[in-house]
Amino acid sequence: MNADRPMPIFRADLHVHSRYSRATSPRLSTALLAAWAGIKGLAVLGTGDFTHPQWRKELAQTLVRDEASGLYRLREEVSSVLPELPAPSPPETETGSPLFLLQGEISSIYKRGGKTRRVHNLVFMPHLEAAESFCRRLEATGNLAADGRPILGLDSRDLLEMVLETHPAAFFIPAHIWTPWFSLFGSKSGFDSLEECFGDLTPAIFALETGLSSDPAMNRLWSRLDSCRLVSNSDAHSGENLGREANVFAGAVSYQGKLEALKDPAAQGPPAFSAPWNFTPRKGNTTWTGTAPATSASLPRKPALLAGVALSAANRSPWGYSTGSWNWPTEPSLSMPPGRTPWAGMAFFPWCPCRNCSPKSSAPLPRAARSGQCMPEPWPASDRN
Ligand SMILES: [Zn+2]
Repeated sequence: MNADRPMPIFRADLHVHSRYSRATSPRLSTALLAAWAGIKGLAVLGTGDFTHPQWRKELAQTLVRDEASGLYRLREEVSSVLPELPAPSPPETETGSPLFLLQGEISSIYKRGGKTRRVHNLVFMPHLEAAESFCRRLEATGNLAADGRPILGLDSRDLLEMVLETHPAAFFIPAHIWTPWFSLFGSKSGFDSLEECFGDLTPAIFALETGLSSDPAMNRLWSRLDSCRLVSNSDAHSGENLGREANVFAGAVSYQGKLEALKDPAAQGPPAFSAPWNFTPRKGNTTWTGTAPATSASLPRKPALLAGVALSAANRSPWGYSTGSWNWPTEPSLSMPPGRTPWAGMAFFPWCPCRNCSPKSSAPLPRAARSGQCMPEPWPASDRN
């Protein structure tokens, strides 16, 4: 590649659902997902729900392997140009038609240490054959057909082991890690450290999903997470919500390249994984109730100023958490080290979902943007480093 030419940059949304998950749009098909990915400028999107037998069958029928990238694309006979979409938008991104990555989410509910744990985890497979063999093992632990996001009594550590044993290129990311009721660090459901949850397999965790209610700045307050990449995704239950949060990568689009970029602890920017693309956590749902006064005192003020913007999408709250609270784990050493800022060692792209801020969206403007409450400017670059 010509050294003078910048690396191509693309956005990937790695947490999506199909119509087989509860509370999702009944219209969600691979064609609809691809069409909305085009509208939102996503080069890569998760398939969602590959553990569901009917959805997996549909994936096999409508997608075809893209040999160049190791990902999947819509079969030619399955058009992604859908007449019911609100705007005539190009169904293609700069990198060609959107590519699918096999992705599923599993809700594990189990007892550990005398407490009931409820943790959601994301699972990724390199191809349909690996997905099939993973599901054959997984179905011994519960009914995969009941929900696109199956509820299983499987310990998160054992689920991770199953993923690692399925294929060397399969990977695992704990989902929306601060959701109070259903996540790794959830105050009502989770654990106080990665090690407590994953034990001997903790080193296999290389990325964490911040979720919609937290952003990288918040997560980087806790230095014990520094060994992990922070990703963020839409967790979309409809085409409209696709890409509301996503991840920025640089370089050629490929399954292996993406995996290596996520695993590389040294890379902070192009040419690898660049940063999550987050919108601002909403103050009302994300109450800072941490145990460390030093940390609380250092909270950035801007999220409060911009809180209204995040409420906008589709004229209703885009948040999955109506009564959430941000509770730190009972981590005794949690405090802001001297000289460390919320931005230490990371960069990310905060945004608001309006046309001015979204790179390529011809979708209807959310209400906040229409009424002029658009985020006035990105976070100052000087604060981010
Ligand atoms: Zn979830």
